[in-house]
Amino acid sequence: MIRGPVAEIDLSAIAQNLQTIREIAGDTPVIAVVKADAYGHGAIEVSRRLVKEGISYLAVAYTGEAVELRNAGIDIPIIVLFDRGNVRDVFDFHLTPVIYTRDTALSLSDEARKRGIVVRVHVKVDTGMGRLGLSGDHIMEDLTAISEMPGLELTGLLSHFSEADLSDRSYAVSQLERFNAIREAISGKIGRKLFSHVANSAAVLTFEESYLDAVRPGLMLYGYSPFSNPPLPPFRKGGTGGLLEGDGYVGNVSAEHSGLIPAMTVKTRILSIRSVAAGTPVSYGRTFVTKRPSRIGVIPVGYADGYSRLFSNNAEVLVRGKRIPVAGRVCMDLTMADLTDVREAEENDEVVLLGRQGDEVVTADELAYRAKTISYEILISLGSKSKRVYLEKD
Ligand SMILES: *Cc1c(COP(=O)(O)O)cnc(C)c1O
Repeated sequence: MIRGPVAEIDLSAIAQNLQTIREIAGDTPVIAVVKADAYGHGAIEVSRRLVKEGISYLAVAYTGEAVELRNAGIDIPIIVLFDRGNVRDVFDFHLTPVIYTRDTALSLSDEARKRGIVVRVHVKVDTGMGRLGLSGDHIMEDLTAISEMPGLELTGLLSHFSEADLSDRSYAVSQLERFNAIREAISGKIGRKLFSHVANSAAVLTFEESYLDAVRPGLMLYGYSPFSNPPLPPFRKGGTGGLLEGDGYVGNVSAEHSGLIPAMTVKTRILSIRSVAAGTPVSYGRTFVTKRPSRIGVIPVGYADGYSRLFSNNAEVLVRGKRIPVAGRVCMDLTMADLTDVREAEENDEVVLLGRQGDEVVTADELAYRAKTISYEILISLGSKSKRVYLEKD
Protein backbone atom coordinates (compact mmCIF):
# COMPACT_ATOMS: atom_id res chain seq x y z
CA MET A 1 0.00 0.00 0.00
CA ILE A 2 1.23 3.49 -0.84
CA ARG A 3 1.81 5.53 2.26
CA GLY A 4 -0.23 8.66 2.57
CA PRO A 5 -2.45 10.44 0.12
CA VAL A 6 -2.14 10.99 -3.60
CA ALA A 7 -2.74 14.44 -5.04
CA GLU A 8 -4.03 14.31 -8.58
CA ILE A 9 -3.19 17.53 -10.37
CA ASP A 10 -5.31 18.24 -13.39
CA LEU A 11 -3.06 20.29 -15.66
CA SER A 12 -5.84 20.89 -18.15
CA ALA A 13 -7.82 22.59 -15.39
CA ILE A 14 -4.84 24.91 -14.85
CA ALA A 15 -4.74 25.60 -18.60
CA GLN A 16 -8.46 26.40 -18.54
CA ASN A 17 -8.06 28.65 -15.54
CA LEU A 18 -5.37 30.54 -17.44
CA GLN A 19 -7.85 30.87 -20.27
CA THR A 20 -10.45 32.23 -17.83
CA ILE A 21 -7.93 34.77 -16.55
CA ARG A 22 -7.17 35.81 -20.12
CA GLU A 23 -10.86 36.23 -20.87
CA ILE A 24 -11.24 38.44 -17.80
CA ALA A 25 -8.06 40.44 -18.33
CA GLY A 26 -8.41 40.86 -22.07
CA ASP A 27 -5.10 41.38 -23.82
CA THR A 28 -3.20 42.03 -20.61
CA PRO A 29 -0.22 39.66 -20.38
CA VAL A 30 -0.24 37.22 -17.48
CA ILE A 31 2.57 36.69 -14.99
CA ALA A 32 1.79 33.27 -13.51
CA VAL A 33 2.73 33.03 -9.85
CA VAL A 34 4.18 29.58 -9.20
CA LYS A 35 5.85 30.23 -5.86
CA ALA A 36 5.68 27.63 -3.05
CA ASP A 37 5.91 24.82 -5.58
CA ALA A 38 2.98 26.27 -7.49
CA TYR A 39 0.83 26.44 -4.35
CA GLY A 40 1.52 22.76 -3.74
CA HIS A 41 0.71 21.67 -7.29
CA GLY A 42 4.33 21.18 -8.44
CA ALA A 43 6.11 24.17 -9.98
CA ILE A 44 7.93 22.30 -12.73
CA GLU A 45 4.93 20.44 -14.12
CA VAL A 46 2.63 23.45 -13.77
CA SER A 47 5.15 25.80 -15.38
CA ARG A 48 5.76 23.42 -18.28
CA ARG A 49 2.05 23.33 -18.97
CA LEU A 50 1.75 27.12 -18.69
CA VAL A 51 4.63 27.55 -21.12
CA LYS A 52 2.81 25.24 -23.51
CA GLU A 53 -0.20 27.53 -23.14
CA GLY A 54 1.93 30.50 -24.14
CA ILE A 55 2.30 32.20 -20.76
CA SER A 56 4.49 35.33 -20.94
CA TYR A 57 6.18 35.28 -17.52
CA LEU A 58 6.49 33.18 -14.39
CA ALA A 59 7.03 34.52 -10.88
CA VAL A 60 8.53 32.71 -7.91
CA ALA A 61 9.46 33.82 -4.40
CA TYR A 62 13.14 32.85 -4.19
CA THR A 63 16.03 32.34 -6.56
CA GLY A 64 16.32 28.63 -5.76
CA GLU A 65 12.83 28.04 -7.10
CA ALA A 66 13.73 29.82 -10.32
CA VAL A 67 16.93 27.80 -10.68
CA GLU A 68 14.91 24.59 -10.42
CA LEU A 69 12.66 25.77 -13.21
CA ARG A 70 15.64 26.69 -15.38
CA ASN A 71 17.20 23.29 -14.70
CA ALA A 72 13.93 21.73 -15.82
CA GLY A 73 14.35 23.48 -19.16
CA ILE A 74 11.98 26.41 -18.66
CA ASP A 75 13.40 29.33 -20.57
CA ILE A 76 10.78 32.10 -20.42
CA PRO A 77 11.36 35.13 -18.18
CA ILE A 78 11.15 34.31 -14.47
CA ILE A 79 10.55 37.13 -12.00
CA VAL A 80 12.02 36.49 -8.55
CA LEU A 81 9.74 38.33 -6.14
CA PHE A 82 11.43 38.29 -2.77
CA ASP A 83 15.09 37.29 -2.93
CA ARG A 84 17.99 39.54 -2.09
CA GLY A 85 21.24 37.61 -2.24
CA ASN A 86 22.16 34.97 -4.80
CA VAL A 87 23.32 37.68 -7.15
CA ARG A 88 25.35 35.29 -9.25
CA ASP A 89 22.38 33.02 -9.87
CA VAL A 90 20.49 35.97 -11.29
CA PHE A 91 23.12 36.19 -14.01
CA ASP A 92 23.92 32.52 -14.42
CA PHE A 93 20.26 31.65 -14.87
CA HIS A 94 19.00 34.81 -16.58
CA LEU A 95 16.47 35.69 -13.92
CA THR A 96 14.55 38.91 -13.48
CA PRO A 97 15.06 40.10 -9.92
CA VAL A 98 12.64 42.28 -8.03
CA ILE A 99 14.63 44.86 -6.12
CA TYR A 100 13.39 46.57 -2.98
CA THR A 101 16.61 47.99 -1.50
CA ARG A 102 19.35 50.13 -2.94
CA ASP A 103 21.95 47.71 -1.56
CA THR A 104 20.68 44.85 -3.66
CA ALA A 105 20.66 47.12 -6.68
CA LEU A 106 24.29 47.98 -6.00
CA SER A 107 25.44 44.37 -5.75
CA LEU A 108 23.62 43.52 -8.97
CA SER A 109 25.17 46.54 -10.62
CA ASP A 110 28.66 45.48 -9.48
CA GLU A 111 28.21 41.95 -10.77
CA ALA A 112 26.78 43.21 -14.06
CA ARG A 113 29.80 45.45 -14.56
CA LYS A 114 32.17 42.60 -13.76
CA ARG A 115 30.50 40.47 -16.37
CA GLY A 116 30.21 43.31 -18.83
CA ILE A 117 26.49 42.78 -19.33
CA VAL A 118 23.26 44.51 -18.45
CA VAL A 119 20.65 43.00 -16.18
CA ARG A 120 17.00 43.97 -16.33
CA VAL A 121 15.38 44.56 -13.00
CA HIS A 122 11.95 45.32 -11.63
CA VAL A 123 11.60 47.50 -8.58
CA LYS A 124 8.98 47.02 -5.94
CA VAL A 125 7.41 49.92 -4.12
CA ASP A 126 5.41 49.61 -0.93
CA THR A 127 2.10 51.35 -1.45
CA GLY A 128 0.50 50.14 1.77
CA MET A 129 1.10 46.42 2.15
CA GLY A 130 3.77 47.06 4.78
CA ARG A 131 5.96 44.18 3.70
CA LEU A 132 8.62 44.71 1.04
CA GLY A 133 9.26 47.58 -1.31
CA LEU A 134 10.85 50.98 -1.42
CA SER A 135 8.95 53.19 0.96
CA GLY A 136 9.07 56.44 2.84
CA ASP A 137 9.99 59.88 1.54
CA HIS A 138 12.85 58.82 -0.64
CA ILE A 139 11.13 56.44 -3.03
CA MET A 140 11.78 58.76 -5.95
CA GLU A 141 15.37 59.34 -4.94
CA ASP A 142 15.97 55.57 -4.61
CA LEU A 143 14.24 54.81 -7.88
CA THR A 144 16.24 57.44 -9.69
CA ALA A 145 19.49 56.18 -8.19
CA ILE A 146 18.68 52.61 -9.22
CA SER A 147 17.73 53.71 -12.73
CA GLU A 148 21.17 55.34 -13.07
CA MET A 149 23.27 52.44 -11.84
CA PRO A 150 25.58 51.07 -14.51
CA GLY A 151 24.82 47.53 -15.60
CA LEU A 152 21.21 47.79 -14.49
CA GLU A 153 18.29 48.42 -16.75
CA LEU A 154 15.22 49.39 -14.76
CA THR A 155 12.40 47.90 -16.80
CA GLY A 156 9.61 47.06 -14.37
CA LEU A 157 7.72 48.49 -11.44
CA LEU A 158 5.41 46.60 -9.12
CA SER A 159 3.54 46.70 -5.88
CA HIS A 160 1.24 44.37 -3.94
CA PHE A 161 -2.25 44.83 -2.51
CA SER A 162 -2.80 44.20 1.15
CA GLU A 163 -6.52 43.52 1.08
CA ALA A 164 -7.35 40.32 -0.72
CA ASP A 165 -11.00 40.84 0.03
CA LEU A 166 -11.71 43.89 -2.00
CA SER A 167 -15.40 44.10 -1.10
CA ASP A 168 -14.45 47.48 0.30
CA ARG A 169 -12.02 48.64 -2.31
CA SER A 170 -11.10 51.98 -0.87
CA TYR A 171 -7.73 50.86 0.49
CA ALA A 172 -6.81 49.08 -2.73
CA VAL A 173 -7.86 52.16 -4.67
CA SER A 174 -5.59 54.31 -2.53
CA GLN A 175 -2.72 51.86 -3.07
CA LEU A 176 -3.25 51.99 -6.83
CA GLU A 177 -3.39 55.78 -6.81
CA ARG A 178 -0.14 55.90 -4.93
CA PHE A 179 1.40 53.42 -7.33
CA ASN A 180 0.24 55.38 -10.37
CA ALA A 181 1.65 58.58 -8.95
CA ILE A 182 5.06 56.96 -8.43
CA ARG A 183 4.92 55.32 -11.83
CA GLU A 184 4.20 58.57 -13.62
CA ALA A 185 6.81 60.50 -11.68
CA ILE A 186 9.57 58.01 -12.43
CA SER A 187 8.58 57.69 -16.08
CA GLY A 188 8.76 61.45 -16.38
CA LYS A 189 12.14 61.44 -14.76
CA ILE A 190 13.76 58.70 -16.83
CA GLY A 191 11.85 59.45 -19.98
CA ARG A 192 10.26 56.07 -20.61
CA LYS A 193 7.48 53.92 -19.27
CA LEU A 194 8.07 51.04 -16.89
CA PHE A 195 6.39 47.67 -17.27
CA SER A 196 3.98 47.90 -14.36
CA HIS A 197 2.16 45.11 -12.56
CA VAL A 198 0.17 44.94 -9.33
CA ALA A 199 -2.93 42.76 -9.84
CA ASN A 200 -3.15 39.57 -7.79
CA SER A 201 -6.14 37.21 -8.14
CA ALA A 202 -8.45 39.36 -6.05
CA ALA A 203 -7.66 42.34 -8.24
CA VAL A 204 -8.02 40.33 -11.45
CA LEU A 205 -11.52 39.37 -10.35
CA THR A 206 -12.70 42.78 -9.17
CA PHE A 207 -10.38 45.65 -10.02
CA GLU A 208 -9.92 46.24 -13.70
CA GLU A 209 -8.22 49.60 -13.26
CA SER A 210 -5.29 47.76 -11.68
CA TYR A 211 -4.46 45.52 -14.66
CA LEU A 212 -1.85 47.97 -16.04
CA ASP A 213 0.80 46.21 -18.18
CA ALA A 214 0.38 42.70 -16.75
CA VAL A 215 -1.69 40.84 -14.18
CA ARG A 216 -0.04 38.63 -11.59
CA PRO A 217 -2.45 35.99 -10.32
CA GLY A 218 -1.56 32.87 -8.38
CA LEU A 219 -4.57 31.32 -6.68
CA MET A 220 -6.91 31.60 -9.67
CA LEU A 221 -4.63 29.41 -11.77
CA TYR A 222 -5.22 26.61 -9.33
CA GLY A 223 -8.98 27.01 -9.56
CA TYR A 224 -9.89 29.02 -6.51
CA SER A 225 -11.03 32.53 -5.80
CA PRO A 226 -9.74 34.53 -2.86
CA PHE A 227 -13.35 35.49 -2.22
CA SER A 228 -14.24 32.49 -0.12
CA ASN A 229 -16.85 31.53 2.43
CA PRO A 230 -20.05 32.53 0.77
CA PRO A 231 -22.89 31.50 3.09
CA LEU A 232 -24.12 28.04 2.23
CA PRO A 233 -26.29 25.44 3.91
CA PRO A 234 -25.12 24.49 7.40
CA PHE A 235 -22.61 21.75 7.82
CA ARG A 236 -24.49 18.47 7.99
CA LYS A 237 -24.81 17.28 11.54
CA GLY A 238 -23.04 14.01 12.16
CA GLY A 239 -25.32 11.02 12.32
CA THR A 240 -23.81 8.97 15.02
CA GLY A 241 -21.70 10.83 17.40
CA GLY A 242 -19.67 13.78 16.95
CA LEU A 243 -20.02 16.61 14.56
CA LEU A 244 -20.37 20.06 15.88
CA GLU A 245 -23.48 22.06 15.20
CA GLY A 246 -23.78 23.54 11.76
CA ASP A 247 -22.31 26.97 11.65
CA GLY A 248 -23.04 28.25 8.26
CA TYR A 249 -20.16 27.02 6.22
CA VAL A 250 -18.87 27.25 3.11
CA GLY A 251 -18.17 25.77 -0.23
CA ASN A 252 -17.09 25.94 -3.77
CA VAL A 253 -19.51 28.62 -4.88
CA SER A 254 -16.79 31.20 -5.12
CA ALA A 255 -14.72 29.08 -7.45
CA GLU A 256 -17.65 27.87 -9.52
CA HIS A 257 -19.27 31.19 -10.13
CA SER A 258 -16.04 32.59 -11.47
CA GLY A 259 -15.70 29.65 -13.87
CA LEU A 260 -12.53 28.41 -12.22
CA ILE A 261 -11.82 24.69 -11.97
CA PRO A 262 -9.98 23.39 -8.89
CA ALA A 263 -6.97 21.47 -10.16
CA MET A 264 -6.15 19.38 -7.10
CA THR A 265 -7.87 16.24 -5.83
CA VAL A 266 -6.41 14.49 -2.80
CA LYS A 267 -7.28 10.84 -2.35
CA THR A 268 -6.46 7.73 -0.45
CA ARG A 269 -8.11 4.39 0.31
CA ILE A 270 -9.83 3.01 3.40
CA LEU A 271 -7.27 1.08 5.40
CA SER A 272 -9.68 -0.76 7.68
CA ILE A 273 -13.34 -0.79 8.66
CA ARG A 274 -14.36 -1.71 12.17
CA SER A 275 -17.87 -2.52 13.38
CA VAL A 276 -18.32 -1.30 16.92
CA ALA A 277 -21.09 -1.12 19.51
CA ALA A 278 -22.85 2.03 20.68
CA GLY A 279 -20.77 3.81 23.31
CA THR A 280 -17.41 3.11 21.68
CA PRO A 281 -14.88 5.94 21.96
CA VAL A 282 -12.86 6.75 18.84
CA SER A 283 -9.31 8.15 18.74
CA TYR A 284 -7.27 10.19 21.22
CA GLY A 285 -9.10 11.89 24.03
CA ARG A 286 -12.43 10.10 23.34
CA THR A 287 -13.84 13.24 21.75
CA PHE A 288 -16.11 11.07 19.60
CA VAL A 289 -18.24 8.32 21.16
CA THR A 290 -20.59 6.30 18.96
CA LYS A 291 -24.28 6.72 19.72
CA ARG A 292 -25.37 3.62 17.84
CA PRO A 293 -23.77 0.46 16.50
CA SER A 294 -21.37 1.95 13.98
CA ARG A 295 -18.91 1.24 11.24
CA ILE A 296 -15.77 3.29 11.63
CA GLY A 297 -13.43 3.63 8.68
CA VAL A 298 -9.74 4.07 9.36
CA ILE A 299 -8.06 6.26 6.75
CA PRO A 300 -4.27 6.19 6.28
CA VAL A 301 -3.83 9.97 6.34
CA GLY A 302 -3.12 12.29 9.22
CA TYR A 303 -1.62 15.62 10.09
CA ALA A 304 1.78 14.33 8.94
CA ASP A 305 0.23 14.43 5.48
CA GLY A 306 -1.01 17.98 5.82
CA TYR A 307 -4.51 16.91 6.87
CA SER A 308 -4.88 19.37 9.73
CA ARG A 309 -5.59 18.26 13.26
CA LEU A 310 -8.15 21.06 13.22
CA PHE A 311 -10.29 18.70 11.13
CA SER A 312 -10.87 16.56 14.24
CA ASN A 313 -14.68 16.07 14.44
CA ASN A 314 -14.78 19.01 12.08
CA ALA A 315 -14.59 17.99 8.42
CA GLU A 316 -16.04 15.52 5.97
CA VAL A 317 -14.46 13.16 3.47
CA LEU A 318 -16.09 11.51 0.46
CA VAL A 319 -16.65 7.78 0.15
CA ARG A 320 -18.86 6.22 -2.54
CA GLY A 321 -19.92 9.73 -3.52
CA LYS A 322 -21.23 10.58 -0.05
CA ARG A 323 -20.06 12.95 2.65
CA ILE A 324 -18.71 11.15 5.69
CA PRO A 325 -17.87 12.95 8.95
CA VAL A 326 -14.42 12.71 10.45
CA ALA A 327 -14.85 10.94 13.80
CA GLY A 328 -12.62 11.91 16.70
CA ARG A 329 -9.19 13.47 16.56
CA VAL A 330 -7.04 13.40 13.46
CA CYS A 331 -3.85 11.49 14.37
CA MET A 332 -0.37 11.81 12.93
CA ASP A 333 -0.85 9.10 10.29
CA LEU A 334 -4.48 8.07 10.66
CA THR A 335 -7.94 9.58 10.63
CA MET A 336 -11.23 7.89 11.45
CA ALA A 337 -14.52 8.55 9.70
CA ASP A 338 -18.03 7.42 10.51
CA LEU A 339 -19.13 5.14 7.67
CA THR A 340 -22.30 3.88 9.36
CA ASP A 341 -24.63 5.53 6.85
CA VAL A 342 -22.75 4.20 3.84
CA ARG A 343 -23.52 0.53 4.11
CA GLU A 344 -21.92 -0.37 0.82
CA ALA A 345 -18.51 1.02 1.85
CA GLU A 346 -15.71 -1.54 1.90
CA GLU A 347 -12.09 -1.60 2.87
CA ASN A 348 -9.87 -0.23 0.11
CA ASP A 349 -12.62 2.06 -1.18
CA GLU A 350 -11.42 5.39 -2.48
CA VAL A 351 -11.60 8.28 0.01
CA VAL A 352 -11.48 11.84 -1.30
CA LEU A 353 -10.17 14.36 1.21
CA LEU A 354 -10.16 17.31 -1.18
CA GLY A 355 -11.94 17.53 -4.49
CA ARG A 356 -14.80 15.85 -6.25
CA GLN A 357 -16.16 12.32 -6.07
CA GLY A 358 -19.40 11.63 -7.92
CA ASP A 359 -21.77 14.49 -7.25
CA GLU A 360 -20.12 15.62 -4.05
CA VAL A 361 -17.18 17.92 -3.59
CA VAL A 362 -14.97 19.01 -0.71
CA THR A 363 -13.31 22.29 -1.65
CA ALA A 364 -10.22 23.94 -0.26
CA ASP A 365 -12.51 26.79 0.80
CA GLU A 366 -14.55 24.36 2.90
CA LEU A 367 -11.48 22.88 4.55
CA ALA A 368 -10.03 26.35 5.04
CA TYR A 369 -13.16 27.47 6.79
CA ARG A 370 -12.99 24.41 9.04
CA ALA A 371 -9.34 25.01 9.90
CA LYS A 372 -9.76 28.78 10.25
CA THR A 373 -7.35 29.48 7.43
CA ILE A 374 -7.42 30.26 3.71
CA SER A 375 -7.60 27.94 0.71
CA TYR A 376 -3.97 28.80 -0.13
CA GLU A 377 -2.72 27.07 3.00
CA ILE A 378 -4.92 24.01 2.50
CA LEU A 379 -3.65 23.51 -1.07
CA ILE A 380 -0.05 23.94 -0.03
CA SER A 381 -0.30 21.64 3.01
CA LEU A 382 -2.03 18.79 1.23
CA GLY A 383 -0.33 19.26 -2.12
CA SER A 384 3.19 19.42 -0.81
CA LYS A 385 2.86 16.38 1.45
CA SER A 386 1.05 14.11 -1.01
CA LYS A 387 2.52 12.02 -3.76
CA ARG A 388 1.55 14.01 -6.83
CA VAL A 389 0.33 12.52 -10.09
CA TYR A 390 -0.54 14.58 -13.15
CA LEU A 391 -3.53 14.35 -15.41
CA GLU A 392 -3.65 15.94 -18.85
CA LYS A 393 -7.13 15.54 -20.20
CA ASP A 394 -6.29 17.40 -23.39
C1 LIG B 1 1.60 35.51 -4.03
C2 LIG B 1 1.68 36.77 -4.76
C3 LIG B 1 0.82 37.02 -5.84
C4 LIG B 1 -0.34 36.12 -6.20
O1 LIG B 1 -1.39 36.28 -5.27
P1 LIG B 1 -2.76 35.49 -5.42
O2 LIG B 1 -3.61 36.02 -4.34
O3 LIG B 1 -2.44 34.04 -5.24
O4 LIG B 1 -3.27 35.78 -6.79
C5 LIG B 1 1.05 38.17 -6.58
N1 LIG B 1 2.06 39.02 -6.26
C6 LIG B 1 2.88 38.81 -5.20
C7 LIG B 1 3.96 39.79 -4.89
C8 LIG B 1 2.70 37.70 -4.41
O5 LIG B 1 3.49 37.51 -3.34
